[in-house]
Amino acid sequence: MPNSKLIDRFNRNLNYLRISITDRCNLKCLYCVPQDLIPKLPSREILSYEEILRIVRVSIRLGISKVRVTGGEPLVRKGVYHFLEQLAGIEGLLDISLTTNGVLLKDNIHRIKSAGIKRINISLDTLNREKYQQITGYDFFHQVWDGIELAQRMGFYPIKINVVPVKGVNDDELVDIARLSMDHPFHIRFIEYMPMGSNHMDIDRHLLAPEIKKHIEQLGELVPVDRSTNDGPAERFKFESGPGEIGFIRPISRHFCQTCNRLRLTASGQLRPCLMLDKQEDLKSIIRKGCSDRELAEVFLEAVRHKPLQHKLSTDHNAGSAVQMCAIGG
Ligand code: SAM
Repeated sequence: MPNSKLIDRFNRNLNYLRISITDRCNLKCLYCVPQDLIPKLPSREILSYEEILRIVRVSIRLGISKVRVTGGEPLVRKGVYHFLEQLAGIEGLLDISLTTNGVLLKDNIHRIKSAGIKRINISLDTLNREKYQQITGYDFFHQVWDGIELAQRMGFYPIKINVVPVKGVNDDELVDIARLSMDHPFHIRFIEYMPMGSNHMDIDRHLLAPEIKKHIEQLGELVPVDRSTNDGPAERFKFESGPGEIGFIRPISRHFCQTCNRLRLTASGQLRPCLMLDKQEDLKSIIRKGCSDRELAEVFLEAVRHKPLQHKLSTDHNAGSAVQMCAIGG
């Protein structure tokens, strides 16, 4: 990327923008949404689609080439499919993906496909209907599973399934979940729980990647998969038999900050250079004061200047963001 202007102090090329389009969600996952529910932002405090598209256009001129749409739950926001279409039509954007809990997938998958999205990540922490309800607060397991199967039949690839393992909740199912990669071309991604916001889970419920890996290796040897430059932070493996993959995202046990290429745009219009640190730049205010594209670009460059080398969660469990994941987008 010789022309990228988004190179930080540590020579990382920040070409990936994750965009949360809403702070609202139709689930209340126990590790994500605080029990004492935080009030949702009034809609005037959320960036409009036009504002987001403008930010994306400016960011592409600076070197962003890859965008992920997330939330809250992105599919609950009105007008999202038209927005995805407009996003996919922006010249210079090489990769657009979507992270969803899958609740609304089945009924809207055709619209997602025709909007131009090819890659989706679906969050699913259990294969058991009752447990799904216990984790998320809702009885939507079958709906989500039907959506995943339909997405597979419609040719979405890869379909990544995000799983946050929690002791005493879904640790007894990790082998069954990993086995999905033997029967389906799914990429199962085990994500270490990150303490965020005010409501942390007890440390004795955290499960780190080495323990998860050891556990699922009862299914067979996990063979490393060669990484490509476009890979995210997942350490990738596969079982010898089976079309799928297993990935570990290890923000705690081996943080991947040295290779972090991300900036995050929150639904409220804040540009965050690091998921875990709450220093952020306020894009919404300047847009609404009528700033020029050049001024917008300046804010991006400012965010890049203060992107930290790494977060401190591996050594201090209280060093995470004070903001919940559902408000930033993961
Ligand atoms: N609603 C969408 C979904 O469920 O995929 C997108 C937003 S959700 C915040 C994005 C991802 O963050 C999900 O895969 C979720 O499991 C993960 N996540 C949420 N809270 C987390 C936490 N504290 N630690 C690790 N991952 C978390």
